[in-house]
Amino acid sequence: MTAKLIKGTEIRDQILKEIEEEVKKIKEEHGVVPGLVTILVGENPASVSYVTAKIKTAKGLGFNEIQDNQPEDISEEDLLALIDKYNKDDSIHGILVQLPLPKHIDEKKILNAIDPDKDVDGFHPVNVGRLMIGGSEVKFPPCTPAGIQEMIVRSGVETSGAEVVVVGRSNIVGKPIANMMLQKAEGANATVTVVHTRTKDLASHCKRADILIVAAGVPGLVKPEWIKPGACVIDVGVNRVGEKISEKTGKKIAILKGDVDFDAAKEIAGWITPVPGGVGPMTITMLMKNTLKSLKFKLGIA
Ligand code: NAD
Repeated sequence: MTAKLIKGTEIRDQILKEIEEEVKKIKEEHGVVPGLVTILVGENPASVSYVTAKIKTAKGLGFNEIQDNQPEDISEEDLLALIDKYNKDDSIHGILVQLPLPKHIDEKKILNAIDPDKDVDGFHPVNVGRLMIGGSEVKFPPCTPAGIQEMIVRSGVETSGAEVVVVGRSNIVGKPIANMMLQKAEGANATVTVVHTRTKDLASHCKRADILIVAAGVPGLVKPEWIKPGACVIDVGVNRVGEKISEKTGKKIAILKGDVDFDAAKEIAGWITPVPGGVGPMTITMLMKNTLKSLKFKLGIA
């Protein structure tokens, strides 16, 4: 292996430690802790497991964590009223509504009802606009792209003047990370190309990339010959390609693969993220960072 492995788990642990220390300091100096509410509608097993992980992390950091579980048949009106209640609650700094929502509820309407200053997921149009403007306008960068940028910066990869190619143009990964990397800012200042399903020659663009960020959701889409030697490869893709028995628990678990052919790519790239254990652990971490930031904005110390 020639590439340096960018371990999301290690970077996560570093950032969580930093957050924990800051939470303690703020509690001592201001007598408050970050408040996060996670609203879960129904019992979708994947959503339950995501919410459980978020709650566990928040509690471990000393946050005031409220888990608000609502029945599958809650009306849109009642859910909007609940959000309004938390919007007005001074002890809550971050509101998270776990997606997807049941079909009878308009997801967009719900997300747009969250106070943009408590929208720690960064999905509200106001925060999308703030991200586009950049600089001090940015309050809550969306969590997965923010995690990607942290991984690049903390690994010492030069971004200024770098050719960044982003594969994928989704609202939660591709578009925001492209936007973040082109800003006139530290950890950015890159020349960015976004490629997608209608791009004519995917390979030729990827081959130019000093930093290749792949978020397509297609296992093994990026071939080793598309990677520029020494490039930094961030594989965001998480694809279930089968099942296996866990050595730790003896239970069936999913076999996960990224969008990049890791085994071959690691011999060419300069840095590479594994799947699992790469970008994945960063998302919840950045949600915690945004919640802390929200409290800091409120206290005027951000
Ligand atoms: P999406 O389906 O919303 O978007 C995928 C994008 O990739 C689309 O814009 C599409 O144009 C592009 N694309 C798909 N196939 C392509 C192809 N053959 N050639 C070129 N472009 C192609 O997906 P998403 O929500 O952005 O997620 C992408 C992947 O990242 C998924 O595997 C998802 O599970 C993973 N993901 C991981 C995390 C995390 O680790 N925390 C978070 C979000 C998403």
